[in-house]
Amino acid sequence: MNLEKIEIPEIFKRNVPPGFKISRRNDHDFLVVDSIFCRHGHNLLVESVRIHEEPSIKLDVTIENRHGVMFIDSYWGSHAKLFSFFPGFIHDHALVKARCPQCRVSMMEPYECDEEGCSSDTGIVFYLPGEHNRVHVCAKLNCPSHRLEVIDIPSDLVRTVSHINFFGEGIDDLFGDF
Ligand SMILES: [Zn+2]
Ligand SMILES: [Zn+2]
Repeated sequence: MNLEKIEIPEIFKRNVPPGFKISRRNDHDFLVVDSIFCRHGHNLLVESVRIHEEPSIKLDVTIENRHGVMFIDSYWGSHAKLFSFFPGFIHDHALVKARCPQCRVSMMEPYECDEEGCSSDTGIVFYLPGEHNRVHVCAKLNCPSHRLEVIDIPSDLVRTVSHINFFGEGIDDLFGDF
């Protein structure tokens, strides 16, 4: 998996939003999730599975009739994922029902997806450090739509960063047990 290089606005680099860090790889700066939680404050980043050499975001998921864990790349805008189950035969736009792997609280929320060809009304919400800071992701598998909500950073800048997508879709499967 190669990370495509997309410029992060300089002003954003100087005001890295809570829960993120800048990671420099191959002379390029990437925005990487550094702390992210369920609504009860459980840390979702795990060291045991690394993607692009960074801890991944672990979720308990049910997708169609499969149940297991999913690991998401912590590089902002990357959609690389690993599964503890074989993700074949699952529809491209299947609904991902996510729970916190620690307390099992549902992470689902209403979401109006504006991605072309996706009419999802369901999303997954992640909590960043700070009372009002969140990441909202479309709950349809392989839909790249995601939104950052950060108080104290100008909203047009937040919108710019919300639209960063390093690459479209990426699914890998892991057959290991987690
Ligand atoms: Zn939790
Ligand atoms: Zn969507």
